[in-house]
Amino acid sequence: MVNRVPNEWLLYCRAGFEPDLTAEITARAHELDEPGQVVAAESNSGFVRWQSRDSRPANGIHRGLPLMSLVFARQSLVAFEPLSLSRDDRISPVVELIKESGWNFESIWHETPDTNEGKSLSRLAKSLSRPLESALKRGGGLRRKAGGRRLHLFWLAGDAVQIGMSFPGNRSEHPGGVLRLRHPADAPSRSTLKLEEAWHTFVPKEAWESRLHEGMQAVDLGAAPGGWTYQLVRRGMFVYAIDNGPMAPGLMATGQVEHLREDGFVWEPPYRLDWLVCDIVDKPMRVIDMVERWLIKRWCREAIFNLKLPMKKRWEEVQRCLTRLEVTLKAEGIEADIACRHLYHDREEVTVHVRLKGER
Ligand code: SAM
Repeated sequence: MVNRVPNEWLLYCRAGFEPDLTAEITARAHELDEPGQVVAAESNSGFVRWQSRDSRPANGIHRGLPLMSLVFARQSLVAFEPLSLSRDDRISPVVELIKESGWNFESIWHETPDTNEGKSLSRLAKSLSRPLESALKRGGGLRRKAGGRRLHLFWLAGDAVQIGMSFPGNRSEHPGGVLRLRHPADAPSRSTLKLEEAWHTFVPKEAWESRLHEGMQAVDLGAAPGGWTYQLVRRGMFVYAIDNGPMAPGLMATGQVEHLREDGFVWEPPYRLDWLVCDIVDKPMRVIDMVERWLIKRWCREAIFNLKLPMKKRWEEVQRCLTRLEVTLKAEGIEADIACRHLYHDREEVTVHVRLKGER
C-alpha cells in the first residue's frame, strides 16, 4: 500500500551526478533542519529521491530549497512514493492515488529519466497520455483551474511510476528540466549553447532588452574558437576575445571582435565593461580569484563563468568556491546576486552568474 501523503522530494539530474546532488541536498536539508533523508540515488539513474521522516508532506523542504537555489537539480517535485503497476491496468492505480490524495492539477507531463533506459519508456508514456487524461478529468484530478499545479508522471519502468507535482515559480518549465536549444549552424563550437542556456537560466526574458543589448561591451576570457563570443556578437555587443588560440575568421569579419593573445587571468580592461564571460579550463579557485578581482574593481556589471569539476567531490568544491566568493564580496561591501547551476549543456562543470546590485 502506497502512502497517500506526498512525503518525497523528487529531483532530476544529469546521469552520473546523483552523488553530487545527494551531497548537496543532504547538506542543505541539514541547514534547514528538515528531518528526512535520501532514499534513492542509484548511480547513473538521473534522479534522487529524498523522503521526509514520519510521513510528513515534503512541501516544506521543496519550498525551503527552491530549484534555482540548487546547483545539481534540473527539476524539483513534491512526490508520492513510487507506484508499482500491473501491465494490464496502468491507469486506475494512478487515478485512485490522485483521487485519494485530494490534489488536482491543470496539466500532466509524462517524463522519464535522462538515460537510455528512460528514453525507451517514452513511447509507453506517450501511449498512456490520452486515456490517463480522460480518466483524470472524469475523476476530478484534472481541471481548468488548479493554481497552476502540474502533475508529473515520472516513468521508472514499464510497471513503475513516481507521481510528482510542481508549482508555478519553483520548477523548470521544460520537460525533464532540460532546455533544448538548436545549435546555430554558423557558430564556431558546440560550447556556444552553454552561454545561451546560461542567459535563458539567469536573465529573465523580459530583461534581455536591457541587459543583453546592442552596443554593450564584453570580454570573453578563454574565447577560442569563439562559441561564446558568437553569442555576444549575435546580441550586437563588442567583444575583447582573450586567448592564445585562433578565433573563427567569420567572427573576426564582423568587426565586433578584438582578439588579444594575452593571459585571461591577468588581462585588465581599458575601461568598465558590461559583461565578463569565462570558459577557461583551470582550477575553480583560480577562476574565483580572478572574478573576485573584476567584481571588486567593478570592471563589469555581470559575469557568467564556468567552474570545471574533474574531481570526485564536486559539490564540496562548488560549495567552497561559492562561499569564498560570497565572503570576499561581503568583506568588500559589494552587494551582488550569485547563482550557480549545472546546466544541461554543462558536462563536468557548473555555470555561475553574478550580477552586481545597484547597477542599471
Ligand atoms: N568558450 C569557447 C568556445 O565556445 O568556443 C571554448 C573555450 S575552451 C573550453 C578554453 C579556452 O581557454 C582554450 O581556447 C584555451 O586556449 C583558453 N585558455 C586557457 N588558459 C587561458 C588563459 N590563461 N588565458 C586565456 N585563455 C586561456
